[in-house]
Amino acid sequence: METPLVEMDGDEMTRVIWAWIKELVIGPFVELRTEYFDLGLAERERTDDQVTVRAAEAIRRLGVGVKCATITPNAERVEEYGLSRMYASPNATIRAALDGTVFRAPVLTTAVTPYLPRWKRPITIARHAYGDVYRSTELKVSDAWEGAKVELLATAPDGRQQRALVHDFGEGAGRAGIVQGIHNTDASIASFAHACMGFALDSGQDLWFGTKDTISKTYDRRFRDIFDEVFWEHYRQRFEEAGIGYLYTLIDDAVARVIRSEGGFIWACRNYDGDVMSDMVATAFGSLAMMTSVLVSPEGHHEYEAAHGTVQRHYYRHLAGEETSTNAVATLFAWTGALRRRGELDGLPGLQTFADRLEAATRATIDGGIMTGDLFALSALPHKRKVGTRDFLAAVAERLEGDTTTFG
Ligand code: NAP
Ligand code: MG
Repeated sequence: METPLVEMDGDEMTRVIWAWIKELVIGPFVELRTEYFDLGLAERERTDDQVTVRAAEAIRRLGVGVKCATITPNAERVEEYGLSRMYASPNATIRAALDGTVFRAPVLTTAVTPYLPRWKRPITIARHAYGDVYRSTELKVSDAWEGAKVELLATAPDGRQQRALVHDFGEGAGRAGIVQGIHNTDASIASFAHACMGFALDSGQDLWFGTKDTISKTYDRRFRDIFDEVFWEHYRQRFEEAGIGYLYTLIDDAVARVIRSEGGFIWACRNYDGDVMSDMVATAFGSLAMMTSVLVSPEGHHEYEAAHGTVQRHYYRHLAGEETSTNAVATLFAWTGALRRRGELDGLPGLQTFADRLEAATRATIDGGIMTGDLFALSALPHKRKVGTRDFLAAVAERLEGDTTTFG
């Protein structure tokens, strides 16, 4: 390796798995170079969370990071770890610093059949992470406000005003009710479009996008138009050269097509659609423990991680001395994603090959029937065998050793 990866360690069971991955399946094969940041809760407390800020800066400087799952403190965690305040989620801090889009994709193996057996290839969900109902303003029109007339009011910097009626609760029988105001910005939508189209090109997959623009003729239509503008201005030709397509369709049609599809594309989703659909897609593919996640900034910085959390219940069993069978695949694929990306940026084909081989060895281990408890419960393989996390990683390492390729 030449340029170091930004390595962000984390908490609980995933912190244990992190060290084992480095020890068993990376360390023996690669002269790993990283800039290490400990985002474990103790270090966040000691540095008043400055370690998270420095890690985010390092990703902006070096371009590629890999992150372990971390605890987002709540009241219980403040007590458990004796924290002086309730720190923000590290993921939120990093996302804000990079202004990125998160892409989530499942790792597929033959050991687990998706609930929809037609799905042969991964479906990657890209969720817009700004605005809409997540930044809404809401009012209850009730009691003293029953019968109120509700309007949208925009005041320009020079004082001009524009009004639009939302609903007059004084007309008709329903005098009480609810209202909601939501917004988004052209800049955020355009940056989302760039992230999705850039990722489609990088990964050689088609891009799908859907909204309800037949009903929401201004709001949803704006998303459609900005995606169209960005596509025609910056990507149409490059998509054609790469042999991939951009499909815009109504959100209902998109959902129907996703179900009928064989997978193998990126599905760009509005904030709410992405929230809901990513849980559906993850579950339909089998297990949250097999979902990988990458945050891509408009400048092309990449941060890789598992989509799951710190697997707290397994950690307490681990602390009690029990052997745990926690799935290490999503965390392992965060590492391979980051190593491959570093290899591409630095022109190190050996590093890219290593990432490919490590992924192949991991899949082959599971296809060969050696798996952790979560997959064991789902798999229909006749000769399946449940192993602990460390034994699973050791089996992957053994397969890698059997692979005689040398890595740069
Ligand atoms: P979680 O860690 O994802 O675990 C929820 C449950 O899903 C586990 O109890 C386990 O089920 C199953 N599971 C998840 N990952 C697994 C794996 N790799 N192998 C096997 N089973 C797995 O979510 P959580 O318990 O809600 O959250 C725990 C901590 O993680 C919280 O402090 C939260 O703040 C943090 N979190 C961090 C991130 C992040 O850093 N990206 C994301 C989400 C949550 P069973 O117990 O039934 O086996
Ligand atoms: Mg959700």
